[in-house]
Amino acid sequence: MVCNPAYSDMYGFAQTMPDRPGGGAGPSQTLIEELAVANRILFREGVVDAFGHVSVRNDANPNHYLLARNMAPALVTPEDIVEFDADCNPLNANGRAVYLERFIHGEIYKMRPDVVAVVHSHSPAVVPFGIVKTAKFRSVCQMSSFLPVCTPIFEIRDAAGEDNDLLITSQALGAALARVLGDGTCVLMRGHGSTVVASNLREVVYRAVYTEVNAKLQSEAMRMGEVTYLNEKELVTTTRTIATQINRAWDFWRMRAEGKL
Ligand code: MN
Repeated sequence: MVCNPAYSDMYGFAQTMPDRPGGGAGPSQTLIEELAVANRILFREGVVDAFGHVSVRNDANPNHYLLARNMAPALVTPEDIVEFDADCNPLNANGRAVYLERFIHGEIYKMRPDVVAVVHSHSPAVVPFGIVKTAKFRSVCQMSSFLPVCTPIFEIRDAAGEDNDLLITSQALGAALARVLGDGTCVLMRGHGSTVVASNLREVVYRAVYTEVNAKLQSEAMRMGEVTYLNEKELVTTTRTIATQINRAWDFWRMRAEGKL
């Protein structure tokens, strides 16, 4: 690993943030470590497998964001975290491969100043809601009250045409996805997966986990009969209450991801 002594002196963590020419202020070591933990939690809780990723804005420079290099989330350590600029160029990849779909993150950050963290996944129970034309993905329980009244579906053919690989591999496609997300918390991606956003890293992990839980519960409920969904007032009020409880989930999931439970 190439280390920049000046950078090391300034921030004291050259081991995790080597060369980042023109990068501006570097992120805190705490945030880098939390992002590595978030990757491992998302694997342990069944949101990501070999694919999927989680990002967070640089806490010292909100125009930049942090994302692992191209690898399975369960294997991510702080040394694998890379910083990206607003146009999704890596600042310190040092030749390491980066995610093809990083434009999901970069373009959402560009369009949504309120968003601080993003998870993109292919979590399996959610996928059917993006492909069944009559199904609407909606909140069925208190833990998933952050979901929109009606979760939008991104149809990549609208942006990329009939011949596409379903992946968000450009700024234009990332911007098209961000537009469908709008001011919401979750967007389904037809034949692919979903993306959730939040105002901090722990909250986005929580939301990604409970997006998958909601999909399982809603699918099961729909098989049983007519479903009662949370109404708009319940969505708002419950989300406000649950926001105070997220550290409880994080502490539990972290211990479980570390094999301590
Ligand atoms: Mn994907």
